This record gives sequence, C-alpha cells and structure tokens, in this order.
Amino acid sequence: MTIKKQSKGTLEVICGSMFSGKSEELIRQLKRSKIAQKETIAFKHSLDNRAAIEYVVSHNDNRIPAFPIQDPQEILQLLTPDIKVIGIDEAQFFSHELIDVVLELVENGKHVIIAGLNLDFRAVPFGPMPTLMALADNVTKLSAVCIVCGDEAYFSQRLVNGKPAKYNDPLIKVGAQESYQARCRDCYSIDKKSVWQSSL
Ligand code: ZN
Repeated sequence: MTIKKQSKGTLEVICGSMFSGKSEELIRQLKRSKIAQKETIAFKHSLDNRAAIEYVVSHNDNRIPAFPIQDPQEILQLLTPDIKVIGIDEAQFFSHELIDVVLELVENGKHVIIAGLNLDFRAVPFGPMPTLMALADNVTKLSAVCIVCGDEAYFSQRLVNGKPAKYNDPLIKVGAQESYQARCRDCYSIDKKSVWQSSL
C-alpha cells in the first residue's frame, strides 16, 4: 500500500441566470464544508451591493460572511494555510486574472467553489465564467422559473422602463427604471442575436 501524496484541489462552478439560486447553493456548499470541519472563506465582487456588503446573501435572505474585493490577488493575500475551501460569488464581474488565481489555489490543494452568471443580459458569455466552467471538475447549471410562461429559465432579461433592453444599451441608463427577470429561451427578448466571438 502506498501513502497517498498531498493531492491537488478541485474546482466547482455553480452558474445560471439571475434568480436561479446560485448564491443559495454556494452558501449551502460552504455550510456543509464547515460541518465537515473544513476551514472556509468566502469572497464576493464588491460591485454587488444588493444587500449587506460583508455577506454573500441569497434571494431567500440566507447569508454567510464574505470579503468584498475587486482584485483577485486579494484572495491570495487574505488566505491562511488552514483554509481548505474557498467560495467566490458574483465571479462574472472579476477580470480574467481570477482564472490564474483559481488555478493556483487548486494546484495547492484547495477546493474552490465559484458562483456566477454564465450569460449577461445580451446572452453573451460573461467575463471569466465560460473559461472557469471549461476548467472545472464539476459544473452545476441552475435554472430559474420563467416569469412569463413558467418554463425553465436560463436567460436574464433586462428591462428598461418596463421594455426589453436593447443589445447596445449602456449598462447604466441615467433616469431609467431598470429591472431584471428570469426568462426561458422563447420568452427572452433582445433586438440582436449575440455574436459569441465578440465576447472574447
Ligand atoms: Zn417562458
């Protein structure tokens, strides 16, 4: 019998549309790790101020403490050797530098759990998410419920003043009432099809 060497870590990605329960699933995984006596730490992109800045908060108001950061290097700086499980929420907002940081963590035996939107409101792959999904050991793709017809929803519909946003609408429209809905492929509406090469 051989002695098991120090093994490498694993990368898990939880993705889906808005309202699909990504943060809820990330919180569940991190709580399970804690029960298993594994030291955990959570981060979230500091753009997200939908609720308390120092927590990952799900739409069900389940929450877990998290460090709000913008630069992926801060993950390495805040890490201590005893931490085994690292959760990162709203990963779509980070630069592609996140990919190298995550791979370094996995190489060093950490279990990294990423949660984020795989598509933006234009249905274009979002930031570092498609690459992280390709590199992951395991991908969980969650669906929401289409607000129009009740089918499985994989798209995030952006509405500006109650109407579907246009593909080239600026991300912040001054004076506009903006909201998002989960919708299925049939009910999702955009004035132009996404050309996926443009996102690279
Ligand atoms: Zn629908």
